[in-house]
Amino acid sequence: MNSLWIETFDKKHEFPKLSNSISCDVCIIGAGIFGISCAYYLTKLGFNVVVLEKDEIASKTTGHTTAKITSQHGLFYNYLINNFGISFAKSYLNANENAIKNIKEIIDTENISCDFSYQNSFIYTNNHEELQSIYDEVDAVRSLDFPCEFTTTTELPFSVLGACMFQNQAQFHPLKYVYGLVDSISDNCKIFTHTTVTDIRQSDNNYICYTDNANVQSKYVILACHYPFLKIPGFYFLKMYQSSSYLIAVDTKTPLFNGMYLTAKSPTLSFRTTQIDGKDLLLIGGADHKTGTYCNFESTYGSLEKVAKTYYPNCDVLYRWNTRDCITLDKVPYIGLYSHYMPNLYVGTGFQKWGMTSSNVAANIVVDMIRGKENPYASTFSATRMQPIKNKDEMKNMVVQSTKSIVVDKLNSSYLKIDDIALNSGGIVQINGSKVGIFKDATGKIFAVKPVCTHLGCLLSWNDVDKTWDCPCHGSRFDFMGKNLYDPAIENLEIYNIE
Ligand SMILES: Cc1cc2nc3c(=O)[nH]c(=O)nc-3n(C[C@H](O)[C@H](O)[C@H](O)COP(=O)(O)OP(=O)(O)OC[C@H]3O[C@@H](n4cnc5c(N)ncnc54)[C@H](O)[C@@H]3O)c2cc1C
Repeated sequence: MNSLWIETFDKKHEFPKLSNSISCDVCIIGAGIFGISCAYYLTKLGFNVVVLEKDEIASKTTGHTTAKITSQHGLFYNYLINNFGISFAKSYLNANENAIKNIKEIIDTENISCDFSYQNSFIYTNNHEELQSIYDEVDAVRSLDFPCEFTTTTELPFSVLGACMFQNQAQFHPLKYVYGLVDSISDNCKIFTHTTVTDIRQSDNNYICYTDNANVQSKYVILACHYPFLKIPGFYFLKMYQSSSYLIAVDTKTPLFNGMYLTAKSPTLSFRTTQIDGKDLLLIGGADHKTGTYCNFESTYGSLEKVAKTYYPNCDVLYRWNTRDCITLDKVPYIGLYSHYMPNLYVGTGFQKWGMTSSNVAANIVVDMIRGKENPYASTFSATRMQPIKNKDEMKNMVVQSTKSIVVDKLNSSYLKIDDIALNSGGIVQINGSKVGIFKDATGKIFAVKPVCTHLGCLLSWNDVDKTWDCPCHGSRFDFMGKNLYDPAIENLEIYNIE
């Protein structure tokens, strides 16, 4: 299901697939908001840039976001201060506040029409037990010299017990912004779509990015592909997982409110409004779960629709979509040098569902590193940081899940029979001792795949909401015919012929 942004954006751009080998200064892999922001800044500085995109521009996470542009990343600053100290938290906050200014400056300079508007951002609660965490966050943010307020007044259609409010935050239409950047990029950038990078190798002082058809040789490479597909060195698969969230866009048939809202604790609920073709729409997001874990319609879109109907009984749900983002173990993005063993290879990932500002922070850090300029925020986000893991529970979960999916689940001998699988649904069956992933369409036609992730070999799980095969370890996703949809996997699943 495509997002409201993708469905309502009139895309006038077509880009070729890479067919001949070429060279450039910087090769950027991935054309989401991070990759295109890097291309924008680098070309302004005179670098020759090539962007290689597996699908289409901003068609993945960026095209399915909520597009709040804010430095208020949940109840985050109290956590940062407690775990990393005041100056670290201040650096994180300033970097993201600067990003809001940078985005506005680009929009003004390039005259990008992307429905940008300043909004107040709120983290609120209606739960007495969580109220103290709101007070604590307000105190934490104020200790960073940022003017944050405690309030019980919002424009939401229900009252709140308390909220932490940041002023002068913003929102926009993410596709209009990213394509606006593309239009503003000068001639020294070539963009290729439907071009998947399958490998990167060092050759003398350069890198070669391999695709199916041709190669790109460059001194610098930026991994802007969301979850890096390179495994060693880097080992990002040991330090990042993906989390999915769902969104609906609702015609409430009533005048709507200003402001951007998020609940204090998980499972979160997110609200913002937008106007499409003159009509006010309400966006409700939430129903987070680790990508690849069980979900159904009721627990995802159903739960959001229930919220919509509670406050707007006559509303119509016009769009439903979901996407996922990378979460690092200490909740701070990885930005900068990818690995000490691969000089001139850079990364920006782990934006933990706050990539509108984080991508701008990342683009500035990486571009400064390429041009040899010091960036004041580089050490805060360093991708090669070696710090004690703050989130031990999450680390344990990742190791347990990976072991379970790679080893234990594959040995499990309980399985479904093909007849057990309902029409328009899927599951794993055992045939001649092998596990086979089966999807039965509405007519009973069977599509069979090897249900093993092509990234690191985890056993996939069936997602009945999207009719996809999802990896519970690192979040790769494949359609029911085995086509790879989402990173970090890049290869399709093996297909079986079942008579
Ligand atoms: C439900 C949800 C809501 C969110 N809401 C917000 C919000 O309100 N505010 C906010 O700040 N953030 C939000 N985020 C986070 C934000 O959307 C992301 O952090 C951001 O879009 C990530 O951008 P990106 O460029 O890194 O990744 P992407 O947009 O995924 O771009 C990566 C690109 O790389 C391409 N690619 C992958 N592998 C290869 C390869 N091998 N070769 C070539 N190309 C490749 C992909 O096709 C893709 O186009 C949200 C996230 C989720 C999940």
